[in-house]
Amino acid sequence: MPSRNECQRQWTRLRHFLGQTKISTKITCLYAAILFVILIFTSIIMGIGVYASFYHQSETEIHISMEHIRNRLSDGDHLGDILNSENFVLPGVILSVTDITGQVIYKNDMHYPSLATIEAHRVKNPPFWANRSMEVSKLDKFSLYHATMNVMDEGQIYQLHFFRTITAEQGFLAHLQRVLFLITIIGFLIALLAGYFLSSRILKPIRDLTQTARKIEVERMDRRIEVPPVHDELAELAITFNHMLDRLEAGFRQQQRFVSDASHELRTPVTVILGYSDLLSRWGSSDKEVLEEGISSIRTEAEDMQQLIEKLLFLARADQKRQVIHKEYLELSELVDAVVRKMKFAVGKHSLTLGENDEGRIFADPVSMRQMLRIFLENAVKYTPDGGHIQVSSKCMPGEQIMQVEIADDGIGISSEDQGKIFDRFYRADPSRTKAVGSVGGTGLGLSIARWIADQHGIQINLVSELGKGSTFLLKIPLVEEAEACGELEHE
Ligand code: ADP
Repeated sequence: MPSRNECQRQWTRLRHFLGQTKISTKITCLYAAILFVILIFTSIIMGIGVYASFYHQSETEIHISMEHIRNRLSDGDHLGDILNSENFVLPGVILSVTDITGQVIYKNDMHYPSLATIEAHRVKNPPFWANRSMEVSKLDKFSLYHATMNVMDEGQIYQLHFFRTITAEQGFLAHLQRVLFLITIIGFLIALLAGYFLSSRILKPIRDLTQTARKIEVERMDRRIEVPPVHDELAELAITFNHMLDRLEAGFRQQQRFVSDASHELRTPVTVILGYSDLLSRWGSSDKEVLEEGISSIRTEAEDMQQLIEKLLFLARADQKRQVIHKEYLELSELVDAVVRKMKFAVGKHSLTLGENDEGRIFADPVSMRQMLRIFLENAVKYTPDGGHIQVSSKCMPGEQIMQVEIADDGIGISSEDQGKIFDRFYRADPSRTKAVGSVGGTGLGLSIARWIADQHGIQINLVSELGKGSTFLLKIPLVEEAEACGELEHE
């Protein structure tokens, strides 16, 4: 007997082999194996059924014959008269009568094997479907049932032996067995072929999928899998795979655009810095004015570059879900007040006023919230000519758990075509005009960052703007609970 280790090794080898086998081969084998088991099972059941019905039929015939003789004896007939009459047993049932000494005194079929022969061939363990009150003997060519009944006639005890051949149809049964075996083998082969054919057909889309996946490269991301016309699991897989490719392609294109835009943005300050360093190397030592202008311009460009890099890093961290957000309970009015107060030092010739500032508690990251408000305020300053007005207010919405923060300016405004795009990365509405206002060039990243922060806090941003008239950004900030002031307003 193989040892436990040997068994484990064999099992590991089998698993390794199955792991390397193609799915189609696995399905074919499984399909054929299942059908094989079903065929074997039905053949066995059929065989047992046929045998059991033969046994049952023989048993019934013996019982009827016994019953008939018993009835006639109880009606007063003598055994001799019964044996001399016709049809005292059913056709096929053999009767042998012995006296008290065991001597055979009557037999209705002289060619039938003797009692001794039948007894010598008695089966010790008859099949489970055989009647336990009868005996089964198995001779060379056939099996037979045997039942005994004792009767009393004219003061003498006689033993009546009833026999019935069970499998006289031996030839038929052997034939049946051969046919069943042949059907099983043919069925198995058909199952193998059909399984192979079906699994090859069913798995074709998967093979196509593999082929397409192999062909997809960075340069050829537009390839898609052909979706089968029927809506089954494989069609679903193909659709899902195509959707995944759509997303990957979009992400990849966005990444490409991002890299090229970022490089483009960085090229300008680097060129300016290089230009000024050339100027400084030539005239810097002799001309003090050139020296000062050069140093100050290089510093400005370097600061712009630093800001741009900070923003790029922020978005990169956000994309990788590494940008840290620590939310806590805050008083929004205090936050708005603090940001506006600080911003007042940087508005130059603009006027910045804070109107209504309702109280309301929010659950948010204070650093990000300040950064977001600053982006809107800095834009308002950047895109509003000197002397313009910037108005901030924070109003609670009666019946809603929302605070609406408004940042309004009377600056250059945003055209309706641009309004849907200004939140895209690096998008700037008409850069030439932008530069003209206060000569402050933007990067086109501020609003992307603001929108990311808003999304992290469930804040909805709406924009109302008209070219030449100004812009109003409306931020709907969710409150932890309905603002008290609004509650009072509602009750009034
Ligand atoms: P930038 O660094 O260019 O300001 P943003 O992403 O913050 O980048 O803004 C994108 C564009 O949206 C700006 O270039 C500008 O054209 C437009 N914009 C943003 N805010 C305003 C505003 N308050 N008034 C007019 N235009 C604005």
